[in-house]
Amino acid sequence: MKSLLTKEIVPPAVLEVVSGLQAGGFRAFLVGGCVRDMLRGQPPKDFDVASSARVEDVQKLFKKVIPTGVEHGTVTVVLRGQHVEVTTFRAEADYVDGRRPSKVVFHEDIEADLGRRDFTMNAIAWNPATGELVDPFGGQADLAARTVRCVRDAIERFSEDGLRPLRAVRFATVLDFTLEPATEAAIPRTLAIFRKVAAERVHQEFTKLLLAPKATMGLRLLASSGLLAQFMPEAAAAEFDAVGVAPKDEVIRMALLLLGQPQPREVMIRLKFPNRTAEDTAALVLRSDLPPPEATDAQLRRWLAKLDAARAPQLLSLHEARLTAPIGLRGRVEAILATNPPLTTRQLALDGKAIMAALGTGPSPAIGHATRHLLELVLDDPSLNTTEALQAALKGWIPPP
Ligand code: ATP
Ligand code: MG
Repeated sequence: MKSLLTKEIVPPAVLEVVSGLQAGGFRAFLVGGCVRDMLRGQPPKDFDVASSARVEDVQKLFKKVIPTGVEHGTVTVVLRGQHVEVTTFRAEADYVDGRRPSKVVFHEDIEADLGRRDFTMNAIAWNPATGELVDPFGGQADLAARTVRCVRDAIERFSEDGLRPLRAVRFATVLDFTLEPATEAAIPRTLAIFRKVAAERVHQEFTKLLLAPKATMGLRLLASSGLLAQFMPEAAAAEFDAVGVAPKDEVIRMALLLLGQPQPREVMIRLKFPNRTAEDTAALVLRSDLPPPEATDAQLRRWLAKLDAARAPQLLSLHEARLTAPIGLRGRVEAILATNPPLTTRQLALDGKAIMAALGTGPSPAIGHATRHLLELVLDDPSLNTTEALQAALKGWIPPP
Protein backbone atom coordinates (compact mmCIF):
# COMPACT_ATOMS: atom_id res chain seq x y z
CA MET A 1 0.00 0.00 0.00
CA LYS A 2 1.72 3.14 -1.23
CA SER A 3 0.22 6.26 0.30
CA LEU A 4 -0.92 8.99 -2.05
CA LEU A 5 -1.22 11.50 0.76
CA THR A 6 0.42 14.33 -1.13
CA LYS A 7 -0.66 17.82 -2.03
CA GLU A 8 -0.17 17.03 -5.71
CA ILE A 9 -3.32 14.97 -6.06
CA VAL A 10 -5.52 17.52 -4.28
CA PRO A 11 -7.31 19.77 -6.80
CA PRO A 12 -6.10 23.42 -6.67
CA ALA A 13 -9.60 24.67 -5.81
CA VAL A 14 -9.67 22.42 -2.72
CA LEU A 15 -6.23 23.64 -1.62
CA GLU A 16 -7.38 27.21 -2.11
CA VAL A 17 -10.46 26.67 0.06
CA VAL A 18 -8.32 25.15 2.84
CA SER A 19 -5.78 28.01 2.76
CA GLY A 20 -8.57 30.57 2.49
CA LEU A 21 -10.22 29.20 5.63
CA GLN A 22 -6.86 29.19 7.45
CA ALA A 23 -6.11 32.74 6.37
CA GLY A 24 -9.48 33.69 7.84
CA GLY A 25 -8.34 32.31 11.19
CA PHE A 26 -10.13 28.95 11.06
CA ARG A 27 -8.95 25.37 11.15
CA ALA A 28 -9.55 23.29 8.04
CA PHE A 29 -8.89 19.67 7.08
CA LEU A 30 -9.66 17.14 4.43
CA VAL A 31 -11.70 14.37 6.09
CA GLY A 32 -13.46 11.08 5.52
CA GLY A 33 -13.36 9.02 2.36
CA CYS A 34 -10.76 11.15 0.55
CA VAL A 35 -8.12 10.81 3.28
CA ARG A 36 -8.86 7.08 3.57
CA ASP A 37 -8.51 6.62 -0.17
CA MET A 38 -5.28 8.63 -0.39
CA LEU A 39 -3.76 6.59 2.43
CA ARG A 40 -4.72 3.44 0.53
CA GLY A 41 -3.02 4.76 -2.56
CA GLN A 42 -6.29 5.29 -4.42
CA PRO A 43 -7.22 8.59 -6.04
CA PRO A 44 -10.27 9.94 -4.15
CA LYS A 45 -13.63 10.44 -5.86
CA ASP A 46 -14.35 13.70 -4.05
CA PHE A 47 -12.65 15.88 -1.46
CA ASP A 48 -14.58 16.94 1.62
CA VAL A 49 -13.39 19.80 3.78
CA ALA A 50 -14.21 20.07 7.49
CA SER A 51 -13.61 23.37 9.24
CA SER A 52 -14.10 25.25 12.49
CA ALA A 53 -15.66 28.03 10.36
CA ARG A 54 -19.44 28.36 10.60
CA VAL A 55 -21.60 28.67 7.53
CA GLU A 56 -21.72 32.49 7.86
CA ASP A 57 -17.92 32.62 8.10
CA VAL A 58 -17.50 30.57 4.94
CA GLN A 59 -20.01 32.77 3.15
CA LYS A 60 -17.98 35.86 4.10
CA LEU A 61 -14.65 34.35 3.02
CA PHE A 62 -15.59 33.25 -0.49
CA LYS A 63 -17.41 35.02 -3.30
CA LYS A 64 -19.64 32.21 -4.46
CA VAL A 65 -21.11 29.91 -1.82
CA ILE A 66 -24.15 27.68 -2.33
CA PRO A 67 -26.11 26.89 0.87
CA THR A 68 -26.40 23.14 0.18
CA GLY A 69 -27.11 21.94 3.72
CA VAL A 70 -26.96 24.87 6.07
CA GLU A 71 -28.84 23.14 8.89
CA HIS A 72 -26.10 20.47 8.93
CA GLY A 73 -23.36 23.06 8.60
CA THR A 74 -22.62 22.27 4.97
CA VAL A 75 -22.06 24.74 2.13
CA THR A 76 -20.55 24.40 -1.31
CA VAL A 77 -17.82 26.85 -2.29
CA VAL A 78 -17.55 27.45 -6.02
CA LEU A 79 -14.01 28.28 -7.05
CA ARG A 80 -12.48 28.10 -10.55
CA GLY A 81 -15.66 26.34 -11.67
CA GLN A 82 -15.07 23.60 -9.09
CA HIS A 83 -17.47 22.73 -6.26
CA VAL A 84 -15.90 22.20 -2.86
CA GLU A 85 -18.05 21.04 0.05
CA VAL A 86 -17.21 22.57 3.43
CA THR A 87 -18.82 21.30 6.64
CA THR A 88 -18.47 22.83 10.07
CA PHE A 89 -16.95 20.52 12.71
CA ARG A 90 -19.86 18.91 14.46
CA ALA A 91 -20.43 16.26 17.05
CA GLU A 92 -23.76 14.72 16.17
CA ALA A 93 -24.85 12.99 13.04
CA ASP A 94 -27.96 14.53 11.54
CA TYR A 95 -29.11 11.30 9.94
CA VAL A 96 -29.76 9.17 12.97
CA ASP A 97 -32.11 6.23 12.46
CA GLY A 98 -31.55 4.91 15.95
CA ARG A 99 -33.21 5.94 19.14
CA ARG A 100 -31.64 9.40 19.45
CA PRO A 101 -33.33 12.49 18.08
CA SER A 102 -31.53 14.29 15.28
CA LYS A 103 -29.53 17.21 16.50
CA VAL A 104 -26.41 18.93 15.31
CA VAL A 105 -23.88 20.47 17.67
CA PHE A 106 -21.12 22.51 16.08
CA HIS A 107 -17.64 22.32 17.52
CA GLU A 108 -14.31 24.10 17.51
CA ASP A 109 -12.15 21.00 17.40
CA ILE A 110 -11.58 18.40 14.75
CA GLU A 111 -11.35 15.55 17.32
CA ALA A 112 -15.04 15.91 18.20
CA ASP A 113 -15.90 15.84 14.52
CA LEU A 114 -13.86 12.70 13.92
CA GLY A 115 -15.46 11.09 16.97
CA ARG A 116 -18.93 11.13 15.40
CA ARG A 117 -17.78 9.26 12.29
CA ASP A 118 -18.46 5.60 11.68
CA PHE A 119 -15.18 3.75 11.22
CA THR A 120 -11.62 4.45 12.26
CA MET A 121 -10.43 4.57 8.64
CA ASN A 122 -13.11 7.22 7.92
CA ALA A 123 -12.12 9.26 10.98
CA ILE A 124 -8.77 10.62 9.85
CA ALA A 125 -8.20 14.29 9.03
CA TRP A 126 -5.35 15.74 7.01
CA ASN A 127 -4.38 19.31 6.36
CA PRO A 128 -2.82 19.50 2.91
CA ALA A 129 -1.36 22.97 3.62
CA THR A 130 0.52 22.04 6.79
CA GLY A 131 0.73 18.28 6.43
CA GLU A 132 -0.89 17.83 9.87
CA LEU A 133 -2.55 14.41 10.22
CA VAL A 134 -5.14 13.81 12.95
CA ASP A 135 -5.87 10.14 13.58
CA PRO A 136 -7.28 9.77 17.11
CA PHE A 137 -8.73 6.26 16.67
CA GLY A 138 -5.91 4.40 14.97
CA GLY A 139 -7.37 4.56 11.49
CA GLN A 140 -3.99 4.21 9.75
CA ALA A 141 -3.18 1.04 11.69
CA ASP A 142 -6.58 -0.42 10.79
CA LEU A 143 -6.07 0.46 7.15
CA ALA A 144 -2.70 -1.28 7.22
CA ALA A 145 -4.32 -4.33 8.85
CA ARG A 146 -7.24 -4.11 6.38
CA THR A 147 -9.75 -3.93 9.19
CA VAL A 148 -13.13 -2.21 9.48
CA ARG A 149 -13.45 -1.07 13.09
CA CYS A 150 -16.05 1.20 14.64
CA VAL A 151 -14.91 4.43 16.21
CA ARG A 152 -15.11 3.72 19.95
CA ASP A 153 -17.92 1.32 21.03
CA ALA A 154 -19.46 -0.64 18.16
CA ILE A 155 -22.81 -1.31 19.84
CA GLU A 156 -23.19 2.35 20.67
CA ARG A 157 -22.28 3.43 17.12
CA PHE A 158 -24.67 0.94 15.56
CA SER A 159 -27.43 1.93 17.97
CA GLU A 160 -27.11 5.59 17.00
CA ASP A 161 -27.48 4.92 13.31
CA GLY A 162 -28.79 1.58 12.10
CA LEU A 163 -27.23 2.01 8.66
CA ARG A 164 -23.69 1.68 10.03
CA PRO A 165 -23.68 -2.14 10.28
CA LEU A 166 -24.53 -2.35 6.59
CA ARG A 167 -21.84 0.24 5.83
CA ALA A 168 -19.36 -1.89 7.76
CA VAL A 169 -20.15 -4.91 5.60
CA ARG A 170 -20.16 -2.75 2.46
CA PHE A 171 -16.71 -1.31 3.20
CA ALA A 172 -15.33 -4.76 4.05
CA THR A 173 -16.68 -6.07 0.74
CA VAL A 174 -15.62 -3.19 -1.49
CA LEU A 175 -12.16 -2.86 0.07
CA ASP A 176 -11.68 -6.59 0.70
CA PHE A 177 -11.15 -5.94 4.41
CA THR A 178 -12.27 -7.97 7.41
CA LEU A 179 -14.52 -6.83 10.24
CA GLU A 180 -12.81 -6.33 13.57
CA PRO A 181 -14.38 -8.91 15.95
CA ALA A 182 -16.23 -6.47 18.24
CA THR A 183 -17.58 -4.63 15.20
CA GLU A 184 -18.81 -7.88 13.67
CA ALA A 185 -20.26 -9.10 16.96
CA ALA A 186 -22.25 -5.87 17.36
CA ILE A 187 -24.24 -6.42 14.18
CA PRO A 188 -26.59 -9.21 15.34
CA ARG A 189 -27.12 -7.31 18.57
CA THR A 190 -28.37 -4.14 16.90
CA LEU A 191 -30.60 -5.57 14.15
CA ALA A 192 -33.70 -4.00 15.65
CA ILE A 193 -32.20 -0.58 14.94
CA PHE A 194 -31.11 -1.55 11.43
CA ARG A 195 -34.74 -2.42 10.70
CA LYS A 196 -35.74 1.21 11.18
CA VAL A 197 -33.42 2.51 8.46
CA ALA A 198 -35.05 4.05 5.38
CA ALA A 199 -35.04 1.68 2.40
CA GLU A 200 -33.37 4.34 0.21
CA ARG A 201 -30.30 4.40 2.45
CA VAL A 202 -30.12 0.61 2.52
CA HIS A 203 -30.39 0.59 -1.26
CA GLN A 204 -27.39 2.90 -1.67
CA GLU A 205 -25.09 0.78 0.44
CA PHE A 206 -26.40 -2.56 -0.76
CA THR A 207 -25.88 -1.78 -4.47
CA LYS A 208 -22.25 -0.81 -3.82
CA LEU A 209 -21.77 -4.20 -2.15
CA LEU A 210 -23.66 -6.04 -4.89
CA LEU A 211 -21.44 -4.69 -7.66
CA ALA A 212 -18.14 -5.21 -5.84
CA PRO A 213 -15.74 -7.89 -7.11
CA LYS A 214 -16.02 -9.55 -3.68
CA ALA A 215 -19.83 -9.54 -3.69
CA THR A 216 -19.94 -13.22 -2.76
CA MET A 217 -18.05 -12.58 0.44
CA GLY A 218 -20.25 -9.57 1.15
CA LEU A 219 -23.43 -11.57 0.74
CA ARG A 220 -22.13 -14.30 3.03
CA LEU A 221 -21.33 -11.69 5.62
CA LEU A 222 -24.77 -10.13 5.23
CA ALA A 223 -26.34 -13.55 5.76
CA SER A 224 -24.19 -14.64 8.69
CA SER A 225 -24.60 -11.33 10.51
CA GLY A 226 -28.39 -11.44 10.19
CA LEU A 227 -28.62 -8.28 8.09
CA LEU A 228 -29.80 -9.97 4.90
CA ALA A 229 -32.82 -11.54 6.60
CA GLN A 230 -33.95 -8.08 7.69
CA PHE A 231 -34.22 -6.50 4.26
CA MET A 232 -34.13 -9.34 1.72
CA PRO A 233 -35.15 -12.66 3.26
CA GLU A 234 -36.01 -13.81 -0.28
CA ALA A 235 -32.30 -14.18 -1.03
CA ALA A 236 -31.52 -16.41 1.95
CA ALA A 237 -31.05 -19.54 -0.16
CA ALA A 238 -29.59 -17.84 -3.26
CA GLU A 239 -26.39 -18.95 -4.97
CA PHE A 240 -24.00 -16.32 -3.59
CA ASP A 241 -21.06 -17.88 -5.45
CA ALA A 242 -22.69 -17.20 -8.79
CA VAL A 243 -23.33 -13.52 -7.93
CA GLY A 244 -19.64 -12.75 -7.46
CA VAL A 245 -18.63 -14.22 -10.83
CA ALA A 246 -21.54 -12.71 -12.79
CA PRO A 247 -20.94 -9.49 -14.76
CA LYS A 248 -21.14 -6.31 -12.69
CA ASP A 249 -24.72 -5.66 -13.69
CA GLU A 250 -27.45 -4.97 -11.13
CA VAL A 251 -30.06 -6.77 -13.22
CA ILE A 252 -28.09 -10.00 -13.59
CA ARG A 253 -26.89 -10.05 -10.00
CA MET A 254 -30.32 -9.27 -8.55
CA ALA A 255 -31.94 -11.87 -10.80
CA LEU A 256 -29.50 -14.43 -9.40
CA LEU A 257 -30.50 -13.44 -5.87
CA LEU A 258 -34.22 -13.63 -6.65
CA LEU A 259 -34.27 -16.74 -8.83
CA GLY A 260 -37.35 -18.81 -8.04
CA GLN A 261 -39.21 -15.91 -6.43
CA PRO A 262 -42.82 -15.60 -7.61
CA GLN A 263 -42.92 -11.79 -7.30
CA PRO A 264 -39.46 -10.48 -8.10
CA ARG A 265 -40.70 -7.11 -9.32
CA GLU A 266 -42.38 -6.37 -5.99
CA VAL A 267 -39.21 -7.24 -4.10
CA MET A 268 -37.15 -4.96 -6.34
CA ILE A 269 -39.55 -2.05 -5.84
CA ARG A 270 -39.53 -2.59 -2.09
CA LEU A 271 -35.73 -2.44 -2.24
CA LYS A 272 -36.00 0.92 -4.08
CA PHE A 273 -34.54 -0.16 -7.38
CA PRO A 274 -35.74 2.01 -10.28
CA ASN A 275 -38.83 0.71 -12.12
CA ARG A 276 -36.85 -0.16 -15.21
CA THR A 277 -34.32 -2.23 -13.24
CA ALA A 278 -37.17 -3.95 -11.42
CA GLU A 279 -38.90 -4.87 -14.70
CA ASP A 280 -35.72 -6.12 -16.33
CA THR A 281 -34.80 -8.20 -13.31
CA ALA A 282 -38.30 -9.63 -12.98
CA ALA A 283 -38.33 -10.59 -16.66
CA LEU A 284 -35.13 -12.62 -16.21
CA VAL A 285 -36.37 -14.28 -13.03
CA LEU A 286 -39.78 -15.21 -14.45
CA ARG A 287 -38.42 -16.36 -17.83
CA SER A 288 -35.20 -17.89 -16.68
CA ASP A 289 -35.68 -21.24 -18.43
CA LEU A 290 -33.09 -22.19 -21.02
CA PRO A 291 -33.77 -24.21 -24.17
CA PRO A 292 -32.55 -27.82 -23.96
CA PRO A 293 -28.96 -28.42 -25.14
CA GLU A 294 -30.21 -30.31 -28.21
CA ALA A 295 -32.62 -27.51 -29.25
CA THR A 296 -32.98 -26.86 -32.98
CA ASP A 297 -32.55 -23.37 -34.42
CA ALA A 298 -36.32 -23.06 -34.66
CA GLN A 299 -36.63 -23.92 -30.96
CA LEU A 300 -33.96 -21.34 -30.14
CA ARG A 301 -35.87 -18.71 -32.13
CA ARG A 302 -39.10 -19.57 -30.25
CA TRP A 303 -37.24 -19.29 -26.97
CA LEU A 304 -35.82 -15.89 -27.98
CA ALA A 305 -39.26 -14.72 -29.09
CA LYS A 306 -40.76 -15.65 -25.73
CA LEU A 307 -37.96 -14.18 -23.66
CA ASP A 308 -37.56 -10.98 -25.72
CA ALA A 309 -34.32 -11.29 -27.66
CA ALA A 310 -32.82 -8.18 -26.07
CA ARG A 311 -32.73 -10.01 -22.73
CA ALA A 312 -30.90 -13.05 -24.03
CA PRO A 313 -27.34 -11.86 -23.31
CA GLN A 314 -28.20 -11.12 -19.66
CA LEU A 315 -30.00 -14.42 -19.19
CA LEU A 316 -27.08 -16.31 -20.70
CA SER A 317 -24.68 -14.47 -18.36
CA LEU A 318 -26.88 -15.43 -15.42
CA HIS A 319 -26.75 -19.11 -16.35
CA GLU A 320 -23.05 -18.99 -17.21
CA ALA A 321 -22.36 -17.62 -13.71
CA ARG A 322 -24.31 -20.58 -12.28
CA LEU A 323 -22.56 -22.98 -14.67
CA THR A 324 -25.97 -24.11 -15.94
CA ALA A 325 -25.68 -22.79 -19.52
CA PRO A 326 -24.90 -25.56 -22.03
CA ILE A 327 -21.53 -25.07 -23.73
CA GLY A 328 -21.93 -23.34 -27.07
CA LEU A 329 -25.39 -21.94 -26.42
CA ARG A 330 -24.19 -18.33 -26.43
CA GLY A 331 -22.43 -18.82 -29.77
CA ARG A 332 -25.52 -20.33 -31.35
CA VAL A 333 -27.77 -17.59 -29.99
CA GLU A 334 -25.41 -14.88 -31.22
CA ALA A 335 -25.25 -16.49 -34.66
CA ILE A 336 -29.06 -16.54 -34.83
CA LEU A 337 -29.39 -12.94 -33.66
CA ALA A 338 -26.75 -11.83 -36.18
CA THR A 339 -29.12 -12.86 -38.99
CA ASN A 340 -31.83 -10.63 -37.44
CA PRO A 341 -34.63 -13.18 -37.84
CA PRO A 342 -38.27 -12.10 -37.37
CA LEU A 343 -39.20 -12.85 -33.74
CA THR A 344 -42.17 -10.53 -33.20
CA THR A 345 -45.35 -9.77 -35.12
CA ARG A 346 -44.00 -6.25 -35.72
CA GLN A 347 -41.20 -7.77 -37.80
CA LEU A 348 -43.55 -9.64 -40.14
CA ALA A 349 -43.35 -8.68 -43.82
CA LEU A 350 -47.14 -8.20 -43.74
CA ASP A 351 -48.66 -5.67 -41.35
CA GLY A 352 -52.25 -5.77 -40.11
CA LYS A 353 -53.53 -3.81 -43.07
CA ALA A 354 -51.79 -6.08 -45.57
CA ILE A 355 -53.16 -9.14 -43.80
CA MET A 356 -56.72 -7.74 -43.99
CA ALA A 357 -56.19 -7.07 -47.69
CA ALA A 358 -54.87 -10.59 -48.29
CA LEU A 359 -57.85 -12.11 -46.46
CA GLY A 360 -60.29 -9.67 -48.02
CA THR A 361 -61.83 -8.80 -44.63
CA GLY A 362 -61.97 -5.86 -42.26
CA PRO A 363 -60.79 -5.84 -38.63
CA SER A 364 -61.84 -9.06 -36.88
CA PRO A 365 -60.43 -11.63 -34.46
CA ALA A 366 -59.34 -13.60 -37.54
CA ILE A 367 -56.62 -10.99 -38.16
CA GLY A 368 -55.05 -11.75 -34.80
CA HIS A 369 -55.16 -15.48 -35.53
CA ALA A 370 -53.62 -14.93 -38.96
CA THR A 371 -50.84 -12.78 -37.49
CA ARG A 372 -49.92 -15.46 -34.97
CA HIS A 373 -50.10 -18.12 -37.66
CA LEU A 374 -47.63 -16.17 -39.83
CA LEU A 375 -45.29 -15.61 -36.88
CA GLU A 376 -45.22 -19.36 -36.22
CA LEU A 377 -44.35 -19.95 -39.88
CA VAL A 378 -41.44 -17.52 -39.88
CA LEU A 379 -40.15 -18.72 -36.51
CA ASP A 380 -39.84 -22.13 -38.15
CA ASP A 381 -38.42 -20.73 -41.37
CA PRO A 382 -37.31 -17.06 -41.37
CA SER A 383 -36.80 -17.15 -45.16
CA LEU A 384 -40.60 -17.15 -45.51
CA ASN A 385 -40.77 -13.58 -44.22
CA THR A 386 -41.46 -11.92 -47.59
CA THR A 387 -44.66 -10.25 -48.81
CA GLU A 388 -45.19 -12.86 -51.48
CA ALA A 389 -44.52 -15.91 -49.32
CA LEU A 390 -46.78 -14.67 -46.51
CA GLN A 391 -49.55 -13.71 -48.92
CA ALA A 392 -49.29 -17.19 -50.43
CA ALA A 393 -49.39 -18.72 -46.97
CA LEU A 394 -52.68 -16.95 -46.28
CA LYS A 395 -54.27 -18.22 -49.50
CA GLY A 396 -55.80 -21.48 -48.35
CA TRP A 397 -55.61 -20.58 -44.64
CA ILE A 398 -58.81 -21.01 -42.66
CA PRO A 399 -59.14 -19.17 -39.35
CA PRO A 400 -59.89 -21.38 -36.34
CA PRO A 401 -63.59 -21.38 -35.41
P1 ATP B 1 -17.38 6.36 -0.52
O1 ATP B 1 -15.99 6.31 -1.07
O2 ATP B 1 -18.12 5.12 -0.73
O3 ATP B 1 -18.15 7.61 -0.88
P2 ATP B 1 -17.12 7.64 2.00
O4 ATP B 1 -16.30 7.30 3.19
O5 ATP B 1 -16.79 8.91 1.28
O6 ATP B 1 -17.12 6.41 1.03
P3 ATP B 1 -19.68 8.76 2.41
O7 ATP B 1 -20.98 8.07 2.60
O8 ATP B 1 -19.47 9.61 1.21
O9 ATP B 1 -18.59 7.64 2.47
O10 ATP B 1 -19.40 9.60 3.73
C1 ATP B 1 -18.32 10.50 3.90
C2 ATP B 1 -17.80 10.42 5.33
O11 ATP B 1 -18.82 10.78 6.25
C3 ATP B 1 -17.36 9.04 5.78
O12 ATP B 1 -16.02 8.78 5.44
C4 ATP B 1 -17.59 9.09 7.27
O13 ATP B 1 -16.51 9.74 7.90
C5 ATP B 1 -18.82 9.95 7.41
N1 ATP B 1 -20.07 9.17 7.42
C6 ATP B 1 -20.85 8.88 6.37
N2 ATP B 1 -21.94 8.18 6.72
C7 ATP B 1 -21.85 8.02 8.06
C8 ATP B 1 -22.68 7.40 9.04
N3 ATP B 1 -23.80 6.77 8.71
N4 ATP B 1 -22.26 7.46 10.33
C9 ATP B 1 -21.13 8.11 10.67
N5 ATP B 1 -20.31 8.70 9.81
C10 ATP B 1 -20.66 8.67 8.52
MG1 MG C 1 -17.96 9.80 -0.38
